[in-house]
Amino acid sequence: MLGVLLIHLLSLPFLYVTIIGIYKNNTEEQFIGHVRELTGLLSDFIPANEAVDSANETVFLMESAMLGGEVIYIELVNENGDRLFPDEDVAMNTVEFIEDRYIGQHDDEIYFISLPVYLLIDDVKYTRLRIGFNEAVVLDRLALVKKRSMAILGIYFVCIILLLSYLTSVIMRPLKQLGLLSKKVAAGERSKKMKVSTRISEVSDLSEDLECMRLALVEQTERMHFKAMHDELTGLPNRSLNNDRIDQAISRASRKKSSFAVLLLDLDRFKEINDTLGHGVGDEILKVVAERLKCGIRESDTIARIGGDEFCAILEGVERVVAEKLAMKLAALLEPSFRVNGHTLQVGASIGIAVYPENGEMPEILFQHADVAMYEAKYQGLKVISYHEDMDKHRIEDLQLTSDIREGLKSGQFYAAFQPKVDLSTGKPYGCEMLARWEHPRLGLISPDKFIPIMERENLIGEMTQKVFDKHLPQLKQVIDSHPGFKVSINVSPLSLLDTALLDNLEISMQLNGVKSSSLIIEVTENAIMTNPLRSARILQKFADAGIGVSVDDFGTGYSSLSYLQKFPINELKVDKSFIIGLNKNSQNYPIVNATITMSHDLGMSVIAEGVEEMEVIDLLVEMKCYHVQGRFFSQPLSFTEFKQWIEHFEISEYW
Ligand code: C2E
Ligand code: CA
Ligand code: CA
Repeated sequence: MLGVLLIHLLSLPFLYVTIIGIYKNNTEEQFIGHVRELTGLLSDFIPANEAVDSANETVFLMESAMLGGEVIYIELVNENGDRLFPDEDVAMNTVEFIEDRYIGQHDDEIYFISLPVYLLIDDVKYTRLRIGFNEAVVLDRLALVKKRSMAILGIYFVCIILLLSYLTSVIMRPLKQLGLLSKKVAAGERSKKMKVSTRISEVSDLSEDLECMRLALVEQTERMHFKAMHDELTGLPNRSLNNDRIDQAISRASRKKSSFAVLLLDLDRFKEINDTLGHGVGDEILKVVAERLKCGIRESDTIARIGGDEFCAILEGVERVVAEKLAMKLAALLEPSFRVNGHTLQVGASIGIAVYPENGEMPEILFQHADVAMYEAKYQGLKVISYHEDMDKHRIEDLQLTSDIREGLKSGQFYAAFQPKVDLSTGKPYGCEMLARWEHPRLGLISPDKFIPIMERENLIGEMTQKVFDKHLPQLKQVIDSHPGFKVSINVSPLSLLDTALLDNLEISMQLNGVKSSSLIIEVTENAIMTNPLRSARILQKFADAGIGVSVDDFGTGYSSLSYLQKFPINELKVDKSFIIGLNKNSQNYPIVNATITMSHDLGMSVIAEGVEEMEVIDLLVEMKCYHVQGRFFSQPLSFTEFKQWIEHFEISEYW
């Protein structure tokens, strides 16, 4: 726009000068032509003779010429400049004759012109006729033309400015508006529509295109924001959004003087499923878990996935008791088995609860305490536990133990104790159970009930089983070789039942040591089998195919039925010690134990009773035809040296 103005500013004076020049030239030409014509005519009429009449005629002629007003100066002069007309005393003297070449040459408003003539009076030759024409009219007209041209060009200039400012308002304003809006969009403010009102279709098209771009940008930003704040797999809020929600919950609760609960939920057995069945199956389970959890909370509450198999629920406006009830509900939602890619899987979860404000007023503290409670729940094998101050101590111990376990595995601190199994029908020991022991360098002997759950959690259990087995296998070989049919039982964790790694390694060790695989029995709990029955069946079959015996440990504590277990390659049932300790004919357990023994014999399985402490129990077992027993009545678990001595000097008569 400035350019257009500049062009006009430069070209208008040029136009003006040109117009005025042309006009002036034309007028001048006309005027001068007219003047010359008139002067020539006048000179032609001047008579050339000396007669007095001629002089008078000339004077008359000149006076007449002046009458029109056009000629305002006229004189006839001789060679000396003496004038014939007009007389010396006429007022015309005041003006001085200066010949002009063009109009307005001298500032006298008279156009002076002279012509040679010939007039002889009294021997004086009048040779020049000098005439002055009134050029003021021409000059005035020129001035008027100048004024008008100036005015027209001025109006033109103003029109140009007006036109430009109109165009500016019509085109530039919306463009400028769009520019401003674009800048705002670029700066991140995307809520304003990029619409401008304009009648220019190109600009409105542009504005529509930009609006489309803005909408796409808004959508993309929202998608990115959603992505940044949500877990891609389950669509649940992620850790960042969860942190925001806890902050919000804290400010609401502190305003209303109310409470809320943070629930930290960790799936049980998820890692093993992921490791053994692959991430595809793991992902599917997480999706189903997310769906189930969503059903268990109110819409105003939050359920977020904050880690691999960790979820967090924020339950607003609830106190501890209600939070515990809701947590139980969430845990119950995860109990039914999951059917994924043809697998039927049991998952379950442990939930830790921290309540605002009693368990912390800061988000990190609440989170940390819910985490401590959750680990405590795992440790105790419970579904739900609320945070309590004492737990911190446990947690620190637990962390310390975990690192000590790793160290202990490296430096061979784990070993086995051996508890004999006796066959009452022959009166001879026929095998032993290997029970893991840990001699902690500082804390002394630590119970397997304490370190095994940690090992299972940290996925170290397989390594421990293998190491302890390898440590004692050469010693056991001596016993196996000297006692035909001797069976060594080892406890196999549910985790090891998910893949064949342990089986492969055990087989290698036995081959290296020249021990037949039929000398080995694995004890697996019925719960371990039921976690994933299909998979367990496959792995157990592999053990059976390898010639290794399979015993169901702690039988009676789970929910499986004998007829269901029959589908698995099982050789032995081990009735749990809780049924055996203190058993008598009047106890509630008696008919159960009796039926179990009868049924397993019918199904072709052998039965062993553990936790045999008293002679009375032995009598009852013999009566029920259960001849395989293990328990303190015969021996505690022993070190290998003790066990070897024990087995060599065993005489049933000493007990019976
Ligand atoms: P379990 O497999 O049921 O082992 C039997 C437990 O009962 C042993 O406890 C044993 O010392 C104890 N016991 C033996 N006779 C009697 C008795 O007459 N009365 C009573 N009250 N108890 C008796 P322990 O050695 O403390 O082992 C506890 C549990 O730790 C085992 O229970 C087993 O589940 C687990 N465990 C031990 N060693 C290993 C192992 O190498 N691998 C795995 N996965 N688990 C193991
Ligand atoms: Ca056992
Ligand atoms: Ca047992």
